[in-house]
Amino acid sequence: MAIYDFIIVGSGAGGGTLAYYLNKSGANVLLLEAGRFYRKNTFPKTEAEASAELYWGGGIEYDNQAKLGFLRGRLVGGSSIMYQCLMDRFDDIALNDWQAESGINYFTQNGMDSHYTQIENDLQLHTFTEGERNGNANLFVKACDELGYKWGYLRRGQHDCGRELGNDCITCLNGCHRDSKQSSMVAFVQKAEENNLKVETEIEITQVIHQKDGVIVRGLQGLIGHKKPVEYKAKKTILAGGAFGSTRMMLMSGYQNQLPALGKKFATHPQFMWFGFQKEYVDSHKLFFQSVASKDPNFRANGFKLENVFSSPVSTSMLFTVRGAQHHDFLKRYRYMQCVEVAVRDENIGEIRVDKKGKLNVHKPMTDQDNERKTKGHNAIRNILKTAGAYEVYESQMSFGLHLMGGCTIGVDGKNSVVSPEFNVHGMENLYICDSSVFPNAPGINPSLTIMALAHKLSTLLIK
Ligand SMILES: Cc1cc2nc3c(=O)[nH]c(=O)nc-3n(C[C@H](O)[C@H](O)[C@H](O)COP(=O)(O)OP(=O)(O)OC[C@H]3O[C@@H](n4cnc5c(N)ncnc54)[C@H](O)[C@@H]3O)c2cc1C
Repeated sequence: MAIYDFIIVGSGAGGGTLAYYLNKSGANVLLLEAGRFYRKNTFPKTEAEASAELYWGGGIEYDNQAKLGFLRGRLVGGSSIMYQCLMDRFDDIALNDWQAESGINYFTQNGMDSHYTQIENDLQLHTFTEGERNGNANLFVKACDELGYKWGYLRRGQHDCGRELGNDCITCLNGCHRDSKQSSMVAFVQKAEENNLKVETEIEITQVIHQKDGVIVRGLQGLIGHKKPVEYKAKKTILAGGAFGSTRMMLMSGYQNQLPALGKKFATHPQFMWFGFQKEYVDSHKLFFQSVASKDPNFRANGFKLENVFSSPVSTSMLFTVRGAQHHDFLKRYRYMQCVEVAVRDENIGEIRVDKKGKLNVHKPMTDQDNERKTKGHNAIRNILKTAGAYEVYESQMSFGLHLMGGCTIGVDGKNSVVSPEFNVHGMENLYICDSSVFPNAPGINPSLTIMALAHKLSTLLIK
């Protein structure tokens, strides 16, 4: 059996980034991915197909009370294929809280700066300007200004969204057909392929065996029908399957007795969507879907932020939990809908478990504090929609977790965390984890830039 320098399991924001830097250093790297390798010209064309083909669970996975839906990608690029690519550094509030929870002293602006800078240099980033606001953004901005709420332009990883063509490619969330969106696939994996990175797809790893001289990973190859058992070995292996994926691989490998914190401290920034009906067209699906967001220090202190989002036609039809004529009536007014959502900075009391067959069982109740934050966010949205002139508002009864964090948290102490400050699984010198599963708690800020920065940090430690 060939023995690689490094195996990386999972090719999303964490794994894809790490593969690029390790491959660039001249190491012999194997990148394994459970999903397929779609390219810009092979992404599914419709929302329904994309939902079935690109996501774990064929679309939405739910918590064990079916109250919160989770979205995560299963393809090369992971969830970075469907993300909005909003790229924010963490502020002092988030970094100080991480330091307090983990005991790690590099969680400071200085400690993270070189890693953020490297990623920012390697991605193509664009900060929106006034001329790029669409109807939805204009309503949000006008209302925030009237109410005295602070807002700001977003920074997104994109380089050519085809604005001159009307930028009507609303399939962007299911794979960018222009290779404009800076997913880990576009920004890192495709580039590393040119430098002979070995990528094996449709391989789901189910067992990780730590040995003194390396790590063996076992799994099954194939998505449909007969699945072939496979086995690989590397001197060092990094799990980057995301909060659910990495935690699941560790639990299925039986490490829970050794690692009491495994599966714990799961958080997800629960999001709740609101619609405001206007008399004029809003056309939130046109031009740039999301160019502004709340930047109000008061909202930040109260643990929520507002996003001026876009809701696609299929998602919108699902978010209206009414029936028949009422549903029809809402959808007829699609072009008149203003959309705003709140994301809650939630407490990390969730737990990721698996049953004997490896099926996920995620426990994620909302705490009193989470509900208080949500209510404050809802009050702010109501004010915005009313001030913007909505004659009717609708609060969706469905909520989603798009930022899956924790389960294999980082920290100095083997009782309360799973990986060391150097991303080593406690007590296992050849096994590492580096993705959103290591987040000590919910930052209340978009996570991907930090996931990539942490991957860059680990690459520098491993290359040394
Ligand atoms: C709709 C949507 C919008 C979002 N918008 C933003 C945004 O604007 N900004 C932002 O910062 N974040 C955003 N996010 C969140 C962001 O995409 C994720 O936080 C980030 O991609 C997580 O990175 P990761 O490496 O931890 O996991 P992922 O990117 O999910 O990658 C994990 C990979 O591991 C693979 N894998 C899992 N288990 C196994 C296994 N057993 N064997 C082999 N492979 C496995 C998966 O298939 C996947 O490809 C969004 C997410 C969604 C769904």
